[in-house]
Amino acid sequence: MSQSIKYFSIAAAAIFTLSCEYKKEDTIEDKRINVVATTTMISDMVVQIAGDKVNLKSLMGPGVDPHLYEPIPTDAIALVEADIIFYNGLKLEGQMTSDLKNLNGIALGSVINKKLLKGDQSHPDPHIWGDAEMWSKCIPLVVSSLCEKDSENAEFYKSSGRKLIESYKSLHQWGLERVKTVDAESRVLITSHDAFEYFGQAYGFKVVGLQGISTATEAGISERVKLVDFIKDNKVRAIFVESSVSPDAIKSIAEDSGVIIGGELFSDAMGEPGELGTLNGDQYDLGTYEGMIKHNINTIVEALK
Ligand SMILES: [Zn+2]
Repeated sequence: MSQSIKYFSIAAAAIFTLSCEYKKEDTIEDKRINVVATTTMISDMVVQIAGDKVNLKSLMGPGVDPHLYEPIPTDAIALVEADIIFYNGLKLEGQMTSDLKNLNGIALGSVINKKLLKGDQSHPDPHIWGDAEMWSKCIPLVVSSLCEKDSENAEFYKSSGRKLIESYKSLHQWGLERVKTVDAESRVLITSHDAFEYFGQAYGFKVVGLQGISTATEAGISERVKLVDFIKDNKVRAIFVESSVSPDAIKSIAEDSGVIIGGELFSDAMGEPGELGTLNGDQYDLGTYEGMIKHNINTIVEALK
């Protein structure tokens, strides 16, 4: 059975169950287009551009690892009913990539010039949101896709899209200024998996991940030993755990190398909506892309400066 047929059968079964449960309730017809976003970062981009003009379903919540995520039955319904599916692509959604393609999903990663992609051709590095300026390049694709399916609100989408590009660019500038407080030789970022290569390139950090660009394979003993040696040799001050990856391996590396854990970074998912981060009088919502980037940069700078 092909993957898309699998989706349709799961969705059909779930729709039947739901319609039995809800048949007695009055329903008001929602004329908005149905939009599905895979990761929290993409979902926030859609929210910032479309507000409540679309009916948005975000498949993955805070703390969810997109490399390993497999859809549940209600996701299958949303995917089948969607007018637009936005996904990251570059094999980030490892368990879903072929289905998202078959369902005519729109891959945000497709707009990034191949020459700028890290990793290799068969395994490109998907973590493009780490660089706020690079991530802003995906906004026009979201705007044009929304305009195509919902021309009535096109001016609204275009206008908020332009504002969002400006806001991501100023976030990028803020990041560049903020990292200046860390000496060049202390700019080493060690985390659970290789999610920060674009981040490191944009904001001037050498990045070392314990696992590769996917979390699907665990690091072996030799990788762990190498990392402990690297930390000692380079007198690294702190290493970091990630919100969507188990912290165990990084904790044992910290113990073996005698280094502190500098905090938890949001790598492949944002934080809980409404949870606030605060530093130096600046307050930000960790459940937004802006809050995610500010939290990560502030956490890294405070631990390494
Ligand atoms: Zn990742």
